[in-house]
Amino acid sequence: MSTFTVRHAPSLKSQHKKDIPAGWLRSIREAQLTVLCYHRVEHPDDNGFQGFKPTYSATREAFVRQMDYLKAHYNPISLRDLVAWLDEDRQLPPCPVLITFDDGYRDNAEVAWPIMRDRGLPAAIFLATEYIGAGRPFIWDFAAYCFQQTPRYSAAVPLIGWTSLGTEGERDSATVAWVEKRKRLPAAGRDQAMSELAAALDVPPAPQDTFRRLYLDWSDVQVLARQGVEFGAHTCSHPILTQVSPTEADEEIIHSINELTSRLGAAPLAFAYPNGSARDYSHVHEAIVRQSGMPVAFSLEPGPIALPMIRNRLMSIPRIYIGRNDNMLRFIAKLNGVARFSHLVRSYLPLRKPVSA
Ligand SMILES: [Zn+2]
Repeated sequence: MSTFTVRHAPSLKSQHKKDIPAGWLRSIREAQLTVLCYHRVEHPDDNGFQGFKPTYSATREAFVRQMDYLKAHYNPISLRDLVAWLDEDRQLPPCPVLITFDDGYRDNAEVAWPIMRDRGLPAAIFLATEYIGAGRPFIWDFAAYCFQQTPRYSAAVPLIGWTSLGTEGERDSATVAWVEKRKRLPAAGRDQAMSELAAALDVPPAPQDTFRRLYLDWSDVQVLARQGVEFGAHTCSHPILTQVSPTEADEEIIHSINELTSRLGAAPLAFAYPNGSARDYSHVHEAIVRQSGMPVAFSLEPGPIALPMIRNRLMSIPRIYIGRNDNMLRFIAKLNGVARFSHLVRSYLPLRKPVSA
């Protein structure tokens, strides 16, 4: 495996793209930062149980097309490049794009990173530290397992009531409905909610390593870091921060940063809020992240963002959520701010909201 080298200002300038469309679109794009947020890159039907389907951001083939497009039309940057620009140590190239992943899925290492490394594209992964190498599932992956494994064709499901489970489509829909309901309840009681779901669906405990193989472990993280992948913090247990007390939020943020610092030998450069919409974090959490020494933090309010605006939003830089329904037309539209526009008039546009982050 080749080593990714962090580029410095002269090399960034030397890689400015020449095939960017001329005119107003170019001038707008040159002066804004585009940050993309992926979760998983693979096909959800490959190799048996593979977790909650909405966390799949792109198939391998779609991801290749997207990375090729970014390489041709944008100038990919790293977190380090962004922070150096904020410190006025380095210029940003025109049309900068930062490619990020949330949560810490293993396919980031096995599928996405080799595609990016081959193209010289930097990657940043935000880890929810309690799931790394622990074999503990995110609640949405646990739900997906239960709804896939249940022997029942219908059931009285906690939170969503009597549900038909006869087809794969019905099970997928039930999984999304349960996860969305559970996500908006207090983080406390999460373990009890999972055991109640398994009981309602007659699902015995999952075999060992069912979930462990979905996520990176710390040795994966250290190998990737040596190859140039950057890591940021994403809390420990991935609560929606507005649903826990300020004390718990403080612990979740600080402990995740400390864990990454300890594992990687240097403090991370960034934090990403779980779920990331405007109602999922507040100025209280921005202050905790800032006081923890993070130069920047990312939300999932849609971008891109004009470069002059970034200093006003250092603790809530917007990112564009990429989902598995984004064909190239939608992908390009999102890069050009359609999701940001639809954020304002969502009810008039048929774009999906992020299901999980
Ligand atoms: Zn997340």
